[in-house]
Order: sequence, then structure tokens, then C-alpha cells
Amino acid sequence: MSVRVRFAPSPTGPLHIGGVRTALYNYLFAKKHGGDFILRIEDTDQNRFVPGAEKYFMDTLAWCGMTLNEGINEGGNYGPYRQSDRKHLYRQFADKLLESGNAYIAFDTAEELETQRKANPNFSYNTAVRLQLNNSLSLSNEEVKKRLEENQPYVVRVKVPEEEEIKIIDIIRGAVFFQSSQIDDKVIYKSDGMPTYHLANIVDDHLMKITHVIRGEEWLPSTPIHVLLYRFLGWESTMPQFAHLPLILKPDGNGKLSKRDGDRLGFPVFPLNWTSPETGEESSGFKERGFLPDAFVNMLAFLGWNPGTEQEIFSIEELVEAFSIEHIGKSGAKFDFEKAKWFNAEYIKKLTGEELATLVKETAENKFGAQDKNYLEKSVALVKERFVLLNDIEQFGYLFKATDKYDEASLSKINNIKDVFNTDDFEVFALKNISSDAIIIESALKEFAAINSIKIGDMMKFLRVSLVGELSGPAIPDLIALLGLNETVKRIKNCYNQL
Ligand code: GLU
Repeated sequence: MSVRVRFAPSPTGPLHIGGVRTALYNYLFAKKHGGDFILRIEDTDQNRFVPGAEKYFMDTLAWCGMTLNEGINEGGNYGPYRQSDRKHLYRQFADKLLESGNAYIAFDTAEELETQRKANPNFSYNTAVRLQLNNSLSLSNEEVKKRLEENQPYVVRVKVPEEEEIKIIDIIRGAVFFQSSQIDDKVIYKSDGMPTYHLANIVDDHLMKITHVIRGEEWLPSTPIHVLLYRFLGWESTMPQFAHLPLILKPDGNGKLSKRDGDRLGFPVFPLNWTSPETGEESSGFKERGFLPDAFVNMLAFLGWNPGTEQEIFSIEELVEAFSIEHIGKSGAKFDFEKAKWFNAEYIKKLTGEELATLVKETAENKFGAQDKNYLEKSVALVKERFVLLNDIEQFGYLFKATDKYDEASLSKINNIKDVFNTDDFEVFALKNISSDAIIIESALKEFAAINSIKIGDMMKFLRVSLVGELSGPAIPDLIALLGLNETVKRIKNCYNQL
């Protein structure tokens, strides 16, 4: 049987990186087994619907390179792929469960349930109390009939068996047991004519022939309900296998990583920028922070999975090759932003000057004005090793214009050899000796230091502060070769005038 997996987010907001990781593991698993990767939108809870979320999911998958086999835009043989468009499909299964006595009708109003909760904060609609509540199990048939005829609103609840141990085999966790007395009679169909998550989820997984359900650990407590529903509907033999992924934890390992942690510690927890349509609040994304999708995906893959070897850099194709659910850990994975940046820097190093220039062109031009393509390629190639995020291009302003703000501490370190650059000597010398070849420039500079009896190191410091504005940056001969003679001489004069 060919592997079919689905990523099934609810459009209640943007995707946290935990959600993207769930999508990624589904994608990797599908591709590894030559199977299908499906996007299904679980929008049965109309109260929590957030416009734009659905597009955000698709944009994220596209940015990460996770190609879908079936979905809203892709189509497929098992559509529609949005649960609100499948509304007509679910009622028959709720009815089937009612007929077989595995579900019942409950009339309790929201107020009545609230009163129960007030009286008992641990109130749960379950085997122990269901007969004291207003439902088709506790009321007479005539009463139920009467209420239905009066069009009293009701929900359908699953009838959880008494005193049963429900066993789930999870690929990551092994056998997990639940006591049915701990599970409540979940609502599976609502008075608004919509199924709840539980019913829609298993009906769709069944109809869409899903073979493996790979999802976050927070869904593990729902799984016994799902297993019961599969059994009650007679679908046990084709029930998918389950794999519940460990949480992504805060950097200190204390609890689940949240948006607030990102705000507090200054890193994104969303793949792309997101503006809340309700509050207008903006959240930053990895993409806009200057991450390459391949680096983001590589980093994400390692949050919970490891290949069992020392290798850390994996292209998405290599991830597909190496991936296995068995190598996913059971315990939570700490998010480490420094590590995320390390991955990004490694991926930037692998780019050619041309590729990097294309990626940073817009930012560079916004900040430093229009750039010649060839010049931009050469400049980014020079500082490629120093990039961590693509937006770091903003820190390399000296490649595009002379600084007007020299670092004071750096200036104080070059005052002693100021006199050597007092005259136009350097210019005269440079015009004679310096070419556009970094090797020739280097030997010419050495000669200049010797003639003027200064240490090469001191001379380099002076040139560095002149050209960069501070004591950092790439090799000086390379920088002179890039900037050219006129710009170099101009910057030396500027600097001299500051001292
Ligand atoms: N709609 C659920 C979510 O938002 C999907 C859970 C599942 O994959 O079964 O995460």
C-alpha cells in the first residue's frame, strides 16, 4: 500500500515552527517512501477561523520547497481538501454511530454545562456522570423524540466504553495506554451542523486513505478517541499508524517554545512575517530575518530527529534519503537560535557570489542605492564568509560607500603612524604600483611599509580603519582591489583628516 500522509493545520493563525516541522516530517516521510503529501485544511471550528492563515500555510510550504501532491490548489482524487467544503460528508457517519449505539444525543445547554463546571472544576462529561445529564441515554425515548421535534439544539457525543484500557501503538513512543474512565464523551457533531475536529479528522483520514498520521504530541490525548471512532465505524483494519512528535522547547528546555519566547529573546518563531488581521500585531519570520529556506529546513529537521551520524548539513533531497521516523526522539527538542544561525551561515558560504548578490540585491539597494551587478557580485563574494543572515549585507556598508563615522577606539590605535599618510606620497606610490590584482597590491603595500619604515601590521591597521571605518573586515589587498585606486586614496585622505 502506498504511503499517504497529510499535513492538516487549522486556519487559526500563522504556523509556528513546530507546525512547519510537522509538515516537514510528513513531507520527508512521504518522499522517502515514494508516497503522497497532502494538505488538508481543518476549519470545522468557524469561531477560530482567521483569514489569511490558509494562504500563509501554502506560502510556507512553497518557500520551504515542500511540494504537495494533493491540496486545495493542487486538487487530487480525494477532494475537496478543505473540511468546510466537505460538510455534507460527515453527518452520515454521526448517524451511523448513533444507530450502532456508539454515540448519543446530548441536549445540555452551554449554561447547564457551565453550572456543572462551577460546581465541580474537574467536571468531565464521561461514563461516570453521563446518566445524570440531559441526553438520549438518560432521557426516555419519548422525551428525546419530543425535544427533537421541538428542534431543541443538540450535539452528538461519542459513547466511551466503561472500564476499558485503550492501547495505541505509536511509532515513536511504542505502546501507550489510556483508561477509558479518564476520557470524556467528546462532542463529535455540533448543533451548527458541523462535525468537530475528532469526527472530521478520522472520517477524512479514512476517506483520503491516509496511511500514517504524523502530528504533534499535543494530539496524543485525542488519539484514544480516534481509535474508538475507527473501531465503531468498522474501519479498524485500515486505521493509520500514529507517530506523535516531541515538543519544540524553549532554549532553556523549560516548557514549550511560544511566540512570547521569541519576542523576549529576539528571534522569530514563525517561518514568514505575519500581521494579525484582528489586532494588526506583526510577527517576524525566518525568511524576512534573512534565512535561506534550505538552511531553515535543515535546522528544523534536526529539531527532534537525527541521522545517527555526525553529518549536520543536509539538502532537502539528502534529508529525504536519510529520514526515518525511528530516528525521531521521544523527548522535547530545545530550540537554539545560535544553531539556527550557524546553519544559515554554512548555507550562505556555499552560495556563489552571483547567487548571494541576487538574494541581497534588494536590501543592498534599499540601503545603499542602485548597484552595478558585477560590482555587487564581487563585493558579496569578498564578505561571504562573514554573513550569518542575508540581511547582514546592511552591515557591510563600507563596500558601497565611504564611512562618515569612524570607530573612536580604532582611530586611537592608528594615530602613531598618521604621519606616513600625511603627504600625497601614498597616492603617488599607489598610482605607480597598485593594480587591480590583490597579490600585486599586497606586495606593493609591503614595499610601501618598508620604504617608510613602518610595520606592515601598523600600516594595515591604518588602511583598514580608512577603508572600513573600524578594525574589522576582509583582507586589505582584496578590498583595495575591489574599491579601486581612486576610492582607496579618497578614503585614506578622509581618515587622515579625522586624526
Ligand atoms: N487540525 C489539527 C491541527 O491543527 C491537526 C491534528 C492532526 O494532524 O490530526 O494541528
